[in-house]
Amino acid sequence: MWRRFRRAAGLLQALLITGLPFLVINGQSALRFDIPQLKLYFFGSVIWIKELYLILFAVLFFLLFIISITAVFGRIWCGWLCPQTVLLDLSESISRLFGGLPRRWLQRIVLLPFSALVSLTILWYFVPPVKTMQSLFSDALITGFFLVQWAVIYAELAFMGRKFCTTICPYAMMQNALFDRDTLVIEYDRSREDECMKCHDCVKACPVGIDIKEGLQTDCIACAECIDACVAVTVERNMNPFPGYKGKLLRPKAFWLGGATLLAGVILVVMVYSRPEVTFLITRDPEQLPQRINRYSWSLYNNTDKLQSFELSVEGDFIIIGETALLLEPYSFKKGKVLVRSEGGKDVVVFTLEGDGLTIEKQAGFL
Ligand code: SF4
Ligand code: SF4
Repeated sequence: MWRRFRRAAGLLQALLITGLPFLVINGQSALRFDIPQLKLYFFGSVIWIKELYLILFAVLFFLLFIISITAVFGRIWCGWLCPQTVLLDLSESISRLFGGLPRRWLQRIVLLPFSALVSLTILWYFVPPVKTMQSLFSDALITGFFLVQWAVIYAELAFMGRKFCTTICPYAMMQNALFDRDTLVIEYDRSREDECMKCHDCVKACPVGIDIKEGLQTDCIACAECIDACVAVTVERNMNPFPGYKGKLLRPKAFWLGGATLLAGVILVVMVYSRPEVTFLITRDPEQLPQRINRYSWSLYNNTDKLQSFELSVEGDFIIIGETALLLEPYSFKKGKVLVRSEGGKDVVVFTLEGDGLTIEKQAGFL
């Protein structure tokens, strides 16, 4: 029965999504966006918002991934892995355990803690889980986000439910454009229509309320519940179920789409992990200062989990006025200003940043 595999896949997905923020690599969450500092902790590395090229490439990879999965496996995400499907399935199963009571209301009660957990999980991707729990009812911002998200998620799951998949979900709408005649779908075997008992168990089992016997429909989320329902009645007669999976997984399109996605993924990983440990940027401020002094703005990004200390110096006939020792916390960003006076030098200043086995040189104009 497909339901067993679906439940296992859903459970794994739920464990992965809720567990990922608890995974700590180099002292930070494996995947978390730090809003105050506009940086993404990404599996032991950090991606700064200024690194727009990485974000664009990650979006490209993500799009390729969605296109290839959908073109080959159809609505596998919707039926097997989407949190909406997983939560609704689970809450339905739990409410079924209490036989005589009104199922719809029981499901709505069960969805209350589930949607609270989803709201918390979303927060954990922005605020470390321990800090979230410590400030859940003491920090107005965190409390506010938690409660608003909880209410919205609960309303969507409890009162909209599967209607969301067939009316609002943008991914569901986009999918039909990505399908081809070999995409994996669930289809009723019309060639054996005469043998079908017309018991309608497949229709009763369908969570989106469609009749698979009428052919493939855009609302179908490929959950395979109709196959399971049909198996229950056909197995006794030693027959194959009438609805079943249909499609070709191993075909040229699957290979070139999969290959392109894999290549994009590898390039993305290489781009992320081959960046320098420290990024140093410096530019001259346009304003004019007296006494042959120029002001420069610098920014320093520490892409590692190590505390970095540096000494800033200038070459030739220039001197730096002010603090030259710079300390940079792990995965942190610092910016500041520095004054440089000419002692005979002109046109170009060469800045050298040295420390912890790293030497970075940058040039900037001098007026
Ligand atoms: S459950 Fe199977 S046998 Fe019954 S109506 Fe549906 S397809 Fe026919
Ligand atoms: S038709 Fe079958 S596979 Fe499609 S949504 Fe209904 S039960 Fe799921």
